[in-house]
Amino acid sequence: MADNFTLVQVPLKKDYEIPHICCSCGKPAGNRRRKVAFNGMAGTKKYSIVLELPMCEEYIQKARSMAITGLVGAVAGAILLPLIIYLINRAFGVDISKTLLLAGVAILIGLFLGSFLANWLVTALRPPEFRSWIARHQQPARIINFVGDDPSKPGKADKMIIRFFSADFAAQYVARNSGVVLDQ
Ligand SMILES: [Zn+2]
Repeated sequence: MADNFTLVQVPLKKDYEIPHICCSCGKPAGNRRRKVAFNGMAGTKKYSIVLELPMCEEYIQKARSMAITGLVGAVAGAILLPLIIYLINRAFGVDISKTLLLAGVAILIGLFLGSFLANWLVTALRPPEFRSWIARHQQPARIINFVGDDPSKPGKADKMIIRFFSADFAAQYVARNSGVVLDQ
């Protein structure tokens, strides 16, 4: 299935060797990295880690065009929503000062709503495979937990468990960082 991910376990360390392919689809990596952060507890100790994972050029371009779509939607929303409110208020003869206040609020709401709706619409019009492709790239990896099983060090983690959408990326990541694949 397209949404399957690979669960891996690697020793906990400061730096990891990162493969040069997209961590979501396994295609050649572009120049942008995506930060994946995790704060967690293992026993009584707190751990936190940040990974910078490569994304493919195709997604980088798509993310850029989605940002532009969002911006266009935000501007349209910020103009249209106050205009609609103004026209409705005028039709019902509402006091102008109330209309101005409402229009101010409507600009703010229109910004967010317009941006959201524009991206939702552009994505909804595409086939389901594209939507799952986008979803995989927006959440390409997740650090699940920190674990330790050394009985002489209770409450201390020495490994972390991560899931990747790209099985190829997971295999290379494990090979470069002396980890193991847990599940596929
Ligand atoms: Zn990709």
